Amino acid sequence: EKRRLQGLRSTVAETRDGTPIELMANIEVATDLDLVRNNGAAGVGLYRSEFLFLGRDDLPDEEEQFQAYKQVLEGMQGLPVTIRTVDLGRDKMPRWADDTDSPNPALSLTGVRLCLAEPMLFRTQLRALLRAGRYGPLRLMIPMLSCLAEVEQTLFHLEQARLSLADDGIPYAEDILIGGMIEVPGAALTVSHFLKRLDFVSIGTNDLIQYTLAVDRGDDSVSHLYDALHPAVLQLIAGVIRAADKANKPVSICGEMAGDPKLTRLLLALGLRRFSMHLAQLLNVKQVVLTTHLQQTTSLATKLLKAEDAGRVRELLAELNT
Ligand code: PEP
Ligand code: MG
Repeated sequence: EKRRLQGLRSTVAETRDGTPIELMANIEVATDLDLVRNNGAAGVGLYRSEFLFLGRDDLPDEEEQFQAYKQVLEGMQGLPVTIRTVDLGRDKMPRWADDTDSPNPALSLTGVRLCLAEPMLFRTQLRALLRAGRYGPLRLMIPMLSCLAEVEQTLFHLEQARLSLADDGIPYAEDILIGGMIEVPGAALTVSHFLKRLDFVSIGTNDLIQYTLAVDRGDDSVSHLYDALHPAVLQLIAGVIRAADKANKPVSICGEMAGDPKLTRLLLALGLRRFSMHLAQLLNVKQVVLTTHLQQTTSLATKLLKAEDAGRVRELLAELNT
């Protein structure tokens, strides 16, 4: 079985009826990029840059960040690389901030909010990213967006970073794409407005589930309620995909759901064509893609979205997966 999967590494990812499906990899700082390419990933769909900031007392400076991002872009040899700007807070608290007395870190200064509250930290990263963008097709992705003003403020900081690099006579990339993560229900419901300012969106289902169902993703006492198949989660995902299709902008999923082969057909049925996942899952998901008739799955989409609870979704899913 393992050997058979290995044989799929260079097989083009497309459904039985010939629709191409993009399968990308989620990576962290120490990921082996040769392995990513050799497993046939179409690129990096999520690079979690915050790992450069964790487990240390100081902040990585612009040069250190530039080198790290450049290394990934070069290592991917021309394939697209999506680098998420620092997503700290919540479950990823850096040492210099772990004394915060927020009553609820998950609803506090986190993701893009923290960046906007610490503009020097943000500018430094944006400058490093703009410089690194000269070494390959870079997509920059903003985490934890909840309102449009955060997109506008980010674009403002990006413009300031460009101007300061130009001032310093430091070369940078002009053509990087800017996308946002949709992982807050309020952003999912209003994503069409975000899409006017962004080049792409990616759905972070790990957080989207947590915030939609009010279930902490790391709390065992409520883990039985953390359910990707809750109809509310599926409706939000379907709504984001629909809005992105309508806006003619790419949409992907980079949460754990994207790497679960039991959910591949479900996501295809909801219209998803771009997945980003842990590398270890890529060939398993590809195998499901290759055996899927898109037309058969899409006819189930309406039923899936009308399901009254996760139990009914599971029944439909069993049908879909046979
Ligand atoms: C997510 O929330 O689905 C996601 C991909 O981001 P993270 O797991 O890093 O919060
Ligand atoms: Mg997230």
